[in-house]
This record gives sequence, structure tokens and C-alpha cells, in this order.
Amino acid sequence: MLKGKTALVTGSTSGIGLGIARALAQQGANIAFNGFGDAAAIAKLQQEVVATYGVRTTYHGADMSKPAEIRELVAHAAGTLGGVDILVNNAGIQHVAAVEDFPEERWDAIIAINLSSNFHTIKAALPGMKARNWGRIVNIASVHGLVASAQKSAYVAAKHGVVGLTKSVALETATTGITCNAICPGWVLTPLVQKQIDDRAAQQKVSGDDARKSLLGEKQPSQDFVTTDQLGQLAVFLCSPAGAQIRGAAWNVDGGWYAQ
Ligand code: NAD
Repeated sequence: MLKGKTALVTGSTSGIGLGIARALAQQGANIAFNGFGDAAAIAKLQQEVVATYGVRTTYHGADMSKPAEIRELVAHAAGTLGGVDILVNNAGIQHVAAVEDFPEERWDAIIAINLSSNFHTIKAALPGMKARNWGRIVNIASVHGLVASAQKSAYVAAKHGVVGLTKSVALETATTGITCNAICPGWVLTPLVQKQIDDRAAQQKVSGDDARKSLLGEKQPSQDFVTTDQLGQLAVFLCSPAGAQIRGAAWNVDGGWYAQ
């Protein structure tokens, strides 16, 4: 379905970004990877995606906290794979602390990586999408773009910002073939969440299994994790013709978290 399209997925060396990159590649999209990680492991990942799905790939290691590197990333993806048709803003980090203890450097990093990077990629990618009158922008926000939790002030502020940015861009592109939407996942078992489970197990002196159960039990009524493939398939749907009039949505995929 996406044969001949190019998808740039930020933070796609791990977790949700990798799941979305795989799902888009399965539909035939060429993939521009981004994210941190071991160079050999990233090269192996690219080879595996090429061999499995028969698509082209490239990689650029832009630090998503740095606007100049972000512009280089978009130009690299467009130059190497022939234009960015699908932009998935996924790179993100977390820091958990009470607001009065929150390190200022962590606040700045979370706002830069989780929110401002989305502005910079969209600004750089939109002219090409407009020239082709087709584009799909999928911002990976969070259920924390819709509701808050304690100890996550920077993350919640950034993700609410992503939902707002999504709506503005959707309105600015409403009469074009470009759509902009946000996906708002609940708990997904990725390295970002595994760290929170490990911290919880250490603080509460419980097993990893008990920490995982209590983390889910507090917020996610399904008591089960969302999977990266489920998020990938929703991204594919948003990129399909059926998604052409879905504009400015903040679509929660959260095991019932936001329904409470
Ligand atoms: P992850 O830690 O598994 O992956 C994060 C990716 O972002 C990695 O590829 C990493 O290298 C990259 N990254 C981090 N900082 C970067 C930087 N400065 N420049 C470039 N790349 C950078 O995390 P994940 O759980 O897959 O999270 C992906 C996105 O999904 C994040 O935006 C996160 O906020 C969001 N999210 C995650 C969950 C969850 O439960 N895991 C829930 C809701 C939303």
C-alpha cells in the first residue's frame, strides 16, 4: 500500500519507533532511520529490514535536541530516498521527579526532544509534502498528552504540547492531501518503560514482576501492555486512503487509561 513512499521515523532504533518503522516497511515504504545506538547493530537492523521487506533504508544519527541536526536529518532522508512523504515524530525521553526537584537540564532536554523536535521536523518536511500534495504526519504523543500523572511535569507538558501542535498543523494543512495526527499510547513495554519498572522494583523492594503488575494496575484498566505492532498498524491505517480525512486527532491506544 505504501510502495514508493518514504517514511522518516525519528527514534526508530528502539521500541515504538522501530515497531512503526517495521509496520510501514511491511507496506512497502522506504525507511529513514534515526536514533541512538551501536553503529553495527543499526547497520544490521537496516540490512534485516531491507532483506525482509524489500525496501530501501537510510540512517542519520541526528540528535533530536539540536535543530541544525534535525534539518540535516530531513534533508538527508529526502536526498537519499527521494522526499519525505511520511513523517513519524517518535523520539522521546522521560525523567521522573517532583517538580521542585526536577533538574532544569532534564526539563530543557525533554521539551527539546519530545516537543520542539516535532516543530523542527514538520517545518523542514512540509514544503516537500506540499509540493507533492500528499503527506502523513504522525506524532507519537502519549496518554500523557491528554491527562497528567504526578512526577512527570516536563513529559506531560511536552506531550500536551505535541497534541496542540498536531491540531494547529492539521488546520494549516486541512485543504491539502497532507494530514497530521497524534497517537497517544498508554504503557508499552519498551526500554523507556522497563527503566521505570526497574526503578519501582528497587524503590519498593519488590520483584520485577510485581513492579510491572503494580505499574499497570495503577493506570491501565486492561492490565496489559500495548504492543509496538499495534501502534505500527494504527500508523499504517493513518497513512492509508481511509485515513485521508482524519485530521488533528489525538488517538489514544491505552488499554482504557483515558476512559477513566
Ligand atoms: P525507547 O527508549 O525504546 O526509544 C526511544 C528512541 O528515541 C530510541 O531510538 C532513542 O535512541 C531515540 N532517542 C532518544 N533521545 C534521542 C535524541 N536526542 N535524538 C535522537 N534520538 C533519540 O522509548 P519508547 O518507549 O519506544 O518511546 C518512543 C516514543 O513513544 C517517545 O516519544 C515516548 O514518549 C512515547 N511513548 C512511550 C510510551 C511507552 O509506554 N513506552 C507510552 C506513550 C508514549
